[in-house]
Amino acid sequence: MWQNIEAAPADSILGLTDAFKKDGNPEKVNLGVGVYKDDEGNTPVLSCVKEAEKILLASEKTKSYLPIPGDPGYGKNVQKLLFGEENEVINSGRAVTAHAPGGTGALRVGGDLLKKFYPDAKVWLSSPTWANHNAVFSAAGFELEQYAYYDAENRQLDFDGMTASLENIPGGDVVLLHTCCHNPSGVDPDREQWRRIAAISNEKGWIPFLDFAYQGFGESVEADRFAVEQFAALGGDFLVASSFSKNFGLYNERTGALTLICPTQKEAAVAFSHLKTTIRVLYSNPPAHGGLVAATILDRPELYSLWIEELGGMRERIRDMRRALVEGLVARGVEGDFSYIARQRGMFSFSGLSAEVVDWLRENKSIYVVGGGRINLAGLTSKNIGYVCDAIAEALQR
Ligand code: PMP
Repeated sequence: MWQNIEAAPADSILGLTDAFKKDGNPEKVNLGVGVYKDDEGNTPVLSCVKEAEKILLASEKTKSYLPIPGDPGYGKNVQKLLFGEENEVINSGRAVTAHAPGGTGALRVGGDLLKKFYPDAKVWLSSPTWANHNAVFSAAGFELEQYAYYDAENRQLDFDGMTASLENIPGGDVVLLHTCCHNPSGVDPDREQWRRIAAISNEKGWIPFLDFAYQGFGESVEADRFAVEQFAALGGDFLVASSFSKNFGLYNERTGALTLICPTQKEAAVAFSHLKTTIRVLYSNPPAHGGLVAATILDRPELYSLWIEELGGMRERIRDMRRALVEGLVARGVEGDFSYIARQRGMFSFSGLSAEVVDWLRENKSIYVVGGGRINLAGLTSKNIGYVCDAIAEALQR
């Protein structure tokens, strides 16, 4: 059956982890996949998650199916986190949320839902974007376009280019925006720029689809929702795909959500009905454990505080590694201004390393970086930072 079919290429990011695992070099460093690591190089289960799991183990009474959109308590907690507790969007009931298997699942459910009712819409992605955005939305049947985003020469947001692109997107098309900690560049719009982006969406009538995979990794849980608040304040339609993979470390529990925000509660009810039929044919209903863990933490003030503390610890460690990398390269006399690495936010930096250097680092130093030069700063530790700085310096000074 598969004789005449060529094998598919390995996933550009997850394929790198497979190669990393096979590498026998004890000094190997994985700066590829977007997974947080502590200073020992481990991806630990957060203490707040362990505490919540104890509670669940003692209280869980059934493994029966969840409702199609997941546990209602989960949806409520997701909304509180996205919008803040007293937001009008929540009080008016014009937002509906379904638990989706991870942020990826949420993006795909949103894609399939939109495709049903807006079959001719195009989906606009930032240039560059997370590679899987292209794959997910083309699998949902959309034609893809790109809007300007990153100014590679000056290593900053190309805001003029971005607004020029956004102003030319026709009403009814879908625009995917990274809410914070842009993947792969680490460069986000500032507050004034978000206000302008939201205003353009309102003027032009395109549909904002926010990808919110890193809430809390930029500045704080509250500050990182600024973009969501701007779109909410417009009173119109938009979608949010959110994920607890990173901020709760629930990667393998596939814990994400799709939230549809509509102008009225009546429209939200219609949207919810179609959201449920879309999910029913994809995976019927979501996995329970991660959602129950997240809701248990978000519901209990003492676990919530513990989570905020642990999340802050992850964010600060990544910032420390950004600074250490910049200082390490400067100390080794590598030419150039690397201060942009410390200014970028979230897990990633577009390092500016060429494809040749990326290959050289992998082949000669067992340092794994995604093609395109995206570095996951969370893969750096106080033990391997010197090795990585030496290797990059050697690669650039050859
Ligand atoms: N969006 C972006 C921008 C991401 O970086 C990721 C994870 N790498 C996701 C969505 C999906 O996350 P999840 O693992 O929850 O599917």
